Amino acid sequence: MVENKRRIGIMGGTFDPIHIGHLVTAEAVRVEYNLDEVIFIPAANPPHKNEANVTKAMHRYIMTAMATYSNPFFHVSAIEMERPGPSYTIDTIYALKKQYDSSTELFFITGADTIQEISTWDRIEELLGLCHFIAATRQGCKTTLEQIKQHFGDLGKKKIHRLNTPELEISSTDIRDKVKNNISIKYLVPESVEKYIYKERLYLE
Ligand code: NAP
Repeated sequence: MVENKRRIGIMGGTFDPIHIGHLVTAEAVRVEYNLDEVIFIPAANPPHKNEANVTKAMHRYIMTAMATYSNPFFHVSAIEMERPGPSYTIDTIYALKKQYDSSTELFFITGADTIQEISTWDRIEELLGLCHFIAATRQGCKTTLEQIKQHFGDLGKKKIHRLNTPELEISSTDIRDKVKNNISIKYLVPESVEKYIYKERLYLE
């Protein structure tokens, strides 16, 4: 019998703002891992960040929706915005598991910097038991990822994967700095996101 498990990518992030690097990464993972869809989930209250320094979740959600709408495989979920308190990934994965068939495989996609910190995350071993982690890395990051995998033993080998993504040196921090300093962000974010940032006067302070 041919197995027909659904494979879903979860693109978790603060997305403050979402940029071309996130989109290129999500599409590369979708193709490489043969995913049926990728769900972008803006973190409402990122557990490791001071809330005061993060743009309102509603703005980040709207920008994420605008950036992803033209890709039929991309969707956006407000699941973390609908839940009060810190946006722990384990709670999100449990909530998603309830929505899908038990055979569905989940792939949490994140950046190389984030993966280095996962040993500090809430109930991380339990989380690794529930979903795969795809670390989008550049060539140079191999050693650190191997250390993280080793740290988790067999679970790490089975559940943490790397994918080299194109060398896009774009970061949300850099985009916020550029806006603040009146430097162009054209082509670093989709045009709709660029217009939204200026219309809502985000990142000026
Ligand atoms: P972050 O600290 O803002 O980002 C760390 C680095 O990873 C940055 O360079 C960031 O680039 C990059 N990055 C973040 N998400 C990415 C993605 N999906 N694909 C590619 N690169 C990405 O991390 P964050 O965005 O707040 O958190 C990432 C995810 O981890 C979120 O879903 C968050 O809720 C989750 N998380 C969970 C826990 C927990 O459960 N305890 C703790 C920490 C984080 P940009 O700045 O350009 O995005």
